[in-house]
Amino acid sequence: MSSRGRTSARLEHLSESWIREMTRVALECGAVNLSQGYPDFDPPPEVREAAAKAVLEGPNQYAVTWGLAELREAIAENLKSRYTPAFDWLDPDLHITITCGVTEGIVAALMAIAEPGDEVIIIEPAHENYTPAVRFAGAEPVYMPLLPPRYELDIERLRAAITPRSKAVILNTPHNPSGRVLNREELLGVAELCIEHDLVAVTDEIYDRILYDGREHIPLATLPGMDERTITVGGLSKTFAITGWRLGFFVAREPWATGTRTVHDFTTICAPTPLQAAGAAAYSLGEDFYARQLEDYHARRDLMMEILAETGFTTGGTPEGAYYIMAGYEDWNHPGESNDFALWLAREVGVAVVGGSHFYNTPGLGERQVRFAFAKKLETLEEARARLLAGIKARG
Ligand code: GLN
Repeated sequence: MSSRGRTSARLEHLSESWIREMTRVALECGAVNLSQGYPDFDPPPEVREAAAKAVLEGPNQYAVTWGLAELREAIAENLKSRYTPAFDWLDPDLHITITCGVTEGIVAALMAIAEPGDEVIIIEPAHENYTPAVRFAGAEPVYMPLLPPRYELDIERLRAAITPRSKAVILNTPHNPSGRVLNREELLGVAELCIEHDLVAVTDEIYDRILYDGREHIPLATLPGMDERTITVGGLSKTFAITGWRLGFFVAREPWATGTRTVHDFTTICAPTPLQAAGAAAYSLGEDFYARQLEDYHARRDLMMEILAETGFTTGGTPEGAYYIMAGYEDWNHPGESNDFALWLAREVGVAVVGGSHFYNTPGLGERQVRFAFAKKLETLEEARARLLAGIKARG
């Protein structure tokens, strides 16, 4: 076949984003949208005001490609003070780059690390962005599942996934979609394997401010020997409820600091400059902002758990972090696999969720589960409750 009229081989195994597709379906059929993970409440007023001011008064032109200095400095300051002294090495001029969201950060990291012939380990269930990032780099994804109901990281299973071709591992904690927060012991196990097998870790730490019941986030880069082999990817989207602003960042030492910057430089140039200025202002919100926000997230999580228990969904436990939960739908007596069920639930019951199978590549996993995202106003969750109750009742 001629190469005209067909897309490149790197797209062969990739399909559209079902997380985003379910938002489209929700809009189309007027469903309460508990599918794509974004808040339906507003960002803090100070942050919105800072953005309006930056648009009116500038800066409105390209930022330097690494990102606006004041935002890089604010992120460095934040990491240094939260994890003293682990990030003392961090120089915002050298080691931090502002990206268009974590999605760009993960792609840039993989493009900088991996190449054809390499394998990259993806811990499943996983965000659907990781496989494309590995494929774009021309590398092979290798999947290592965390098993329900507890989604604990089995270090021996991870060890078994490593081969002489393994180059990197992608790690996400707090975890989307399970709500797990990896504990120190699990992270130390990952660190030990990375050091033993000379692997680079790419960490997705976008939910680092959403942990429940007093848990504390542990960045992998803060563990002994890991700062030089970790690309920490984070962002402002979830912390400040600004997912549409596309503000993420990566923190890395050399050679990854320069490598990731090169990819970023030639793909997006820079994240939106006035929003970067507002992002810097967001970091001056005090501890009381984070405390209040966390209180609100606890209320959302607790209500979500109550609703699921009441409406015939089974869960393996309570989320420890992030704002998702995987739930089984056996009690709904629906014969469909997870995507059919999710589409049916959106269209017939009016609540949109994401089919569990989209978070796995290992056949058979996630098929009888769906993911609920609960970064929503309590009234939105209550509306979902009313619809789900009516829906399950109708099924007898
Ligand atoms: N991280 C969010 C989710 O998992 C949204 C990202 C996306 O649009 N794919 O729903």
